[in-house]
Amino acid sequence: MRVDAVTLFPEMVDRPLSESIVGRAREEGYLKLGFSNPRDFTDDRHRTVDDKPYGGGTGMVMMAEPLYKALLKVRKKGSTVILLTPKGRRFDQAVALELAKKKHLIFICGHYEGIDERITPLADLELSIGDYVLTGGEPAAVVVIDAVTRLIPGVLKKSDATVNETFTGGLLEAPHYTRPGVWRGKQVPQALLSGNHKLIQDWRRERAEELTGRNRPDLAPPAAAKKKARAKKILS
Ligand code: SAM
Repeated sequence: MRVDAVTLFPEMVDRPLSESIVGRAREEGYLKLGFSNPRDFTDDRHRTVDDKPYGGGTGMVMMAEPLYKALLKVRKKGSTVILLTPKGRRFDQAVALELAKKKHLIFICGHYEGIDERITPLADLELSIGDYVLTGGEPAAVVVIDAVTRLIPGVLKKSDATVNETFTGGLLEAPHYTRPGVWRGKQVPQALLSGNHKLIQDWRRERAEELTGRNRPDLAPPAAAKKKARAKKILS
């Protein structure tokens, strides 16, 4: 998959995505990450990318023209353009699964007070990573690119790693344990030591249901199905 970030601060996206599994996915060619900086598309001495908002108010607004040119540099036929904004639709696993099917994603990262609104119609999707305000879209791009990259077939070496995990089946995942069997007096649940596949499956299912009911009652399977349908609608 090809991903481009339109950003004034490419390092903020590049660095966190150079480590661990995503870093390896880049080295192995599963993810090709590129950048387009609006500052490279300015024509004044100061390379100005922002200006005061019309109508007054605090902060600066990213100007449309440098952003537009930076976007045009990377946009191709078939690209999916995603504007990162706290005003967007909430990102979740269902949206990540839809985005993982795309060939080319472009993320527009706002900064300061945000971007000139006339850029918004160029986006196929306005996406928020949660109900809070970041200083810029770069950390949001990192979150979305990370979540999408691990869904690209081949990135996780165990192909079922994303099948039974939290959100995918409509439930939170059951807890995990590793050696030692007894840690500071705390024992690993007997079912997991039994070697009985059915018993382990049942135990995991029960713990997953219990955990979901306690922490995320909104994630019952029918709600998850609705979310998936909604994600499809967002992108079609
Ligand atoms: N003035 C804007 C408002 O009240 O909606 C907030 C602008 S924010 C300080 C600057 C940039 O950070 C935004 O243009 C957006 O790209 C990014 N951003 C902030 N919070 C975000 C979130 N929750 N999800 C995605 N992007 C976010």
